[in-house]
Amino acid sequence: MTDFEKKLLEYLESEHKFAQMILWNDEKLGLEVSIIIDDTTLGPSAGGTRWRAFPTRTEALVDNSRLARDMTYKLALVAGEDTELGKAGLGFGGGKAVIRGESTQDKNKREDQLRAYAALINSLGGRFITSVDVGTSVDDMMVMREVTKWVGGLPHEMGGSGDPSPATAMGVVSGLRACLGAVYDTESFKDKVIAIQGIAGKVGSNLARMLASEGAMLIGSDINKAAARKIAEEIGAKLVAPDEIHKQECDIFSANAFGGILNDDTIPGLRCRIVGGAANNQLWEPFKHVAMLQDRGILHAPEFWINGGGAINVLHEFHPAGYSQERAFADIRRIYDRGKEMIDMSRKEKLPLFAAALRLAQDRIRKAKMAG
Ligand code: NAD
Repeated sequence: MTDFEKKLLEYLESEHKFAQMILWNDEKLGLEVSIIIDDTTLGPSAGGTRWRAFPTRTEALVDNSRLARDMTYKLALVAGEDTELGKAGLGFGGGKAVIRGESTQDKNKREDQLRAYAALINSLGGRFITSVDVGTSVDDMMVMREVTKWVGGLPHEMGGSGDPSPATAMGVVSGLRACLGAVYDTESFKDKVIAIQGIAGKVGSNLARMLASEGAMLIGSDINKAAARKIAEEIGAKLVAPDEIHKQECDIFSANAFGGILNDDTIPGLRCRIVGGAANNQLWEPFKHVAMLQDRGILHAPEFWINGGGAINVLHEFHPAGYSQERAFADIRRIYDRGKEMIDMSRKEKLPLFAAALRLAQDRIRKAKMAG
């Protein structure tokens, strides 16, 4: 049995129960889709559609299940009763979809595939709402929208929320501000040194601009050298080689490129007091590596909290009064308040922030279950 198959079995046998798993093949269209609805206690499940050539079905399912569960925790934390969404009676559970295979380039074939996939989503009757993720685009969502209303992330011209990346970056800034307050005597980014991995990316570049405008001193890295140079010149950031970025002496290391960056090899080399960025699944082995960071006295911002800004922005398209940037951004700024709450809990109960975030999310779901 491969490691991935073992992980899948562990997951399927674990205490965590997901609500529903849909596996769907359309041989004629060459589509293999999995949708995992992790939890619907707080409302319909929501999560992006990832289109990726996973080598095996098992790998696709492992990734799908992890991402769906992250969405459950994320939305329990960032779309709470105290938010504009909550006040409008909206809550969301977690879900995620994976289309396994090479992303189709032929426009007509792609559209046929997307319409068929959208019909599958329709058949779930609103239990799963989706949007853009790795391998899918706003254009894809527009095609799907012709078939199903359970799709978000549409362009502004269609009354949608547009590209989620600036909203995600804004949420990261809000979360990092709460972390700064916990570690330093200030919540100001002025003169704070921040190392950004993936500085040329959609989130990384927005984040870099926002932090630079607040007076932070930035160090960046990106494998896309030309784009990295462009943004570095624009905001006056220093660039370092990709494998050097996490070793920089700084106040905050912000990972915005890929998962698994916090691991046995990188954690000993960190020279910062805070780690927080948008990349999903940053901890290679979550519980082990949270403990390593805690032992090193580094405050780690759980990504399922700090990167929730983009999801909030998209879900505001489902607000009964329609999408409003003002309302959506007010909720994104609440990532800061949720952070303060988590930080208080982690201090009182001597827990890593990661554990406090999980507990808050799980408590909210448990209470909603009990309330029936
Ligand atoms: P992106 O592809 O636009 O940006 C990633 C950047 O990282 C690219 O510029 C890429 O060149 C760079 N990169 C790749 N490997 C690297 C390496 N080894 N060293 C340095 N740079 C490297 O993606 P994005 O949309 O900005 O997302 C970034 C991360 O945030 C991803 O993990 C994504 O899942 C997560 N995320 C994004 C959003 C969003 O709204 N876009 C929301 C939540 C989470």
